Amino acid sequence: MARVKARFVISASQTSEFPPPSLPEVAVVGRSNVGKSSLINALVGHDGLARTSRTPGRTRLANWFAIASPGAAGARRSPGGNAESIDERFFLVDMPGYGYAEVSQAMRESWRPLIEGYLAERKSLVGVLLLIDIRRGAQNEELDFLPWLAERDMPVVVALTKADKLAKNKRSLEVARARQALALRRDPVAVSAQSGDGVDPLWRAVVQLARKPRPQAPADPADPADPE
Ligand code: GDP
Repeated sequence: MARVKARFVISASQTSEFPPPSLPEVAVVGRSNVGKSSLINALVGHDGLARTSRTPGRTRLANWFAIASPGAAGARRSPGGNAESIDERFFLVDMPGYGYAEVSQAMRESWRPLIEGYLAERKSLVGVLLLIDIRRGAQNEELDFLPWLAERDMPVVVALTKADKLAKNKRSLEVARARQALALRRDPVAVSAQSGDGVDPLWRAVVQLARKPRPQAPADPADPADPE
């Protein structure tokens, strides 16, 4: 059963194709095959919303999903009554997976501007959900990525995916290990799209990210009054 109202809005392969920044956005980021599509489907409770695919070529797009008022039953319609007026609160943005070993260097280079351009420039971005496979733990990409986000005052929720693959005691170890490796202020959420473990707490954390206005990014330093 659907947990929340969600609809696919648009895919984009370059910044010029991004939709207007009309709602706050939470970006979902992670290595290819981390279980991103499965988790998005589990979070919103729609099996087919984000395609689960093992084909790298099909996951090179950023995908926008509009999420309606979380927990609201039924679509609220404006007096005009069109479907667009559903009480949509935020966009989940499914970013292309990084680090796919089978993808050529050239293809990887074409992803970077999309991902980095989006994360650095998107004014409506209010938070990032970073996914890490619980059995792989944090690797170089994540160790580089978190400080990069922190420099930009970007709120982040970290989730460790495919938790069902580890026994509970092993999960706790990995949670502690990831927290330490990434210097997180709180435990990452161990989650499984397959068993449903952790899905509710993670969804609450995502909704909170989406609701919290992002601290105003520091204004561009005004042209320094250069005495020269
Ligand atoms: P994406 O490439 O990050 O979007 O990953 P997918 O959602 O397509 O999943 C990649 C593979 O991991 C697929 O074979 C999924 O069936 C599997 N997978 C995804 N989530 C889970 C999970 O929670 N538990 C287990 N055991 N397998 C999962």
